[in-house]
Amino acid sequence: MNKPPKIESDKNNPERVRKPDWIRVKAPVSKGYAETRKLMRELNLNTVCEEAACPNIGECWTKKHATVMILGDVCTRACAFCNVKTGMPRAVDKSEPGHVAEAAAKMGLEHIVITSVDRDDLPDGGASQFVKVINALRDQTPNTTIEILTPDFRNKASAAIEAIVAARPDVYNHNLETVPRLYPTIRPGARYYASLRLLESVKRHDPSIFTKSGIMLGLGEERLEVHQVMDDMRSAEIDFMTMGQYLQPTPRHTKVMEFVTPQNFNAYASIARAKGFLLVASSPLTRSSYHAGDDFARLRDARIKQLERAAKA
Ligand code: SF4
Repeated sequence: MNKPPKIESDKNNPERVRKPDWIRVKAPVSKGYAETRKLMRELNLNTVCEEAACPNIGECWTKKHATVMILGDVCTRACAFCNVKTGMPRAVDKSEPGHVAEAAAKMGLEHIVITSVDRDDLPDGGASQFVKVINALRDQTPNTTIEILTPDFRNKASAAIEAIVAARPDVYNHNLETVPRLYPTIRPGARYYASLRLLESVKRHDPSIFTKSGIMLGLGEERLEVHQVMDDMRSAEIDFMTMGQYLQPTPRHTKVMEFVTPQNFNAYASIARAKGFLLVASSPLTRSSYHAGDDFARLRDARIKQLERAAKA
């Protein structure tokens, strides 16, 4: 693998590191971006694109692709990598499922990604709101395929998974985020094996639902630890793995330990493919919802080909 570039401070802001050239993105200025922003405001919807300060927002919103974040914009956890506010969230918005479906219909979405903050304060962790959103989408935009990116539903996962799987999303995503050794500092409120079990149980309940998970690179993980995460994901029968560069959203968040080169992202992708994932997305700007619609079409094709091969064998 290529040697990682040296981490340098930003001349204008010594607290922050200088991003390598391959991370630079265009400022969001397009008409499509402005229209997506206006619609989200009108319908009182939050997006992870804004809350997480995603570098792809200009590109995605220009194409009318946004990831809606349900259950408010305040999270009950405080992960060291995440830009979403921490605190005591507000009451659940009953009009949210209808608003999400309205946004999908107005944007003419073929594929939608729904995520949420962690809601450890709710008895079901927010699972019933995911179900209501899926049902509203099926009702109002039946041709839109649905991908959900859920929290880990700590201590409530079994009932939450059962309810959500019964609503039949097309893709169930839950991110492992990093290697297990870094959980105590990066994702202290979560447990690596609980997250793996969650994904495994989705597959056990309904093997037709695609499962997906991702990690961020550049947090100080070792190459062999990343390979181990791949093996763990495969043993949980996860179909789709994503890998992207961690970027420090503000100086109070955990620092970038390494900018992984595009060549090394490709090398990781080759190893992941060899381990048997149906699909792998791995590049500095990969995020779990980046190009999710196109990737869903690829996932479906990959499964059809796999079934055809199995039938011939
Ligand atoms: S990659 Fe995902 S989170 Fe980032 S802007 Fe695109 S849709 Fe939003």
